[in-house]
Amino acid sequence: MYGRSGNPTWDAFEAALGALEGGVAVAFSSGLAAISTVLAGLAEGATVVVPGDAYAGTRRLVLEAGARGRLKVRTVDVADTDATVAACAGADLLWLESPTNPLMAIADLEPVIAGAHESACPVVVDNTFATPLLQRPLDAGADLVVHSVTKFLAGHSDVVLGAVVTRDEEERGRLAAHRTLHGAVPGPMEVFLALRGLRTLAVRLERSQATAGLLARRLAEHPAVEVVRYPGLTGHPGHDIAARQMKGFGGVLAFDVVGGAVAADAVCGAVGLIVPSTSLGGVETQIERRNRWEGEESTPASLLRLSVGLEHVEDLWSDLSQALNRTT
Ligand SMILES: *Cc1c(COP(=O)(O)O)cnc(C)c1O
Repeated sequence: MYGRSGNPTWDAFEAALGALEGGVAVAFSSGLAAISTVLAGLAEGATVVVPGDAYAGTRRLVLEAGARGRLKVRTVDVADTDATVAACAGADLLWLESPTNPLMAIADLEPVIAGAHESACPVVVDNTFATPLLQRPLDAGADLVVHSVTKFLAGHSDVVLGAVVTRDEEERGRLAAHRTLHGAVPGPMEVFLALRGLRTLAVRLERSQATAGLLARRLAEHPAVEVVRYPGLTGHPGHDIAARQMKGFGGVLAFDVVGGAVAADAVCGAVGLIVPSTSLGGVETQIERRNRWEGEESTPASLLRLSVGLEHVEDLWSDLSQALNRTT
């Protein structure tokens, strides 16, 4: 009828993503459009519980709504199940990420979601890092899943796209109506590319996380590295939970380098194969010092986020280690 209300390319992508997550999906023009649509469903003065280390865009959106008095905001450490559940008392929405971006904290999804529901607090999980192949939040009881399709799902750093998934047909209708009325519509070409990307998600993720696991172990031994944040490492505080609730530990890790922001920036400047860039989930390995951005003040200054792509592990290690060796 009219391109803002729907088209067959969206239908094909939404059917595929819905099947992967175990619900019905609505595609949006970006991850943030998906996130803001979910938040728009909250009543004036509603209380939202968000991870203190959530994706910076989510935090800014929620905090801005808080500053304008539209929402009340409570921040929590989602790795602390009791504190997170306690914060849901009297709240209208719990926002979760697991792993969080970029601190890689793990939330124990089932007990946290069940605890929130005891307070009649609906739960949204941003599943961008894990993708439905590694964890399905709707199965763990979540009410909504959001994605930055820009990242692993599309997988080639060539589109900006988002999605929301629900099990509730009425909710799907409300989300789609909001998309139409507010114009948060994805371009059909972008959605076509995301659908094509989805077809290789399983093999991309398999390679990416195998390499991420190896790099995490080697980085942990490197004298220029203070700490490696990857749930696949047995020393990670969320390792046991992640091992239980995820089918794999994913393709993103973070590590803090010795020598603060200056040393971390030097590493980003010294890599050759690895691409310094702010996105993640592409076929190329991407590195970034997150703390350089506004809204990332709570991220350690020397933390580098590494999104592991599909290059050969030894090529990546020789690039990373030569860059690190220059700083020590
Ligand atoms: C990138 C990202 C977003 C925002 O998605 P866009 O597609 O850039 O709008 C949301 N959540 C997480 C976890 C992200 O990494």
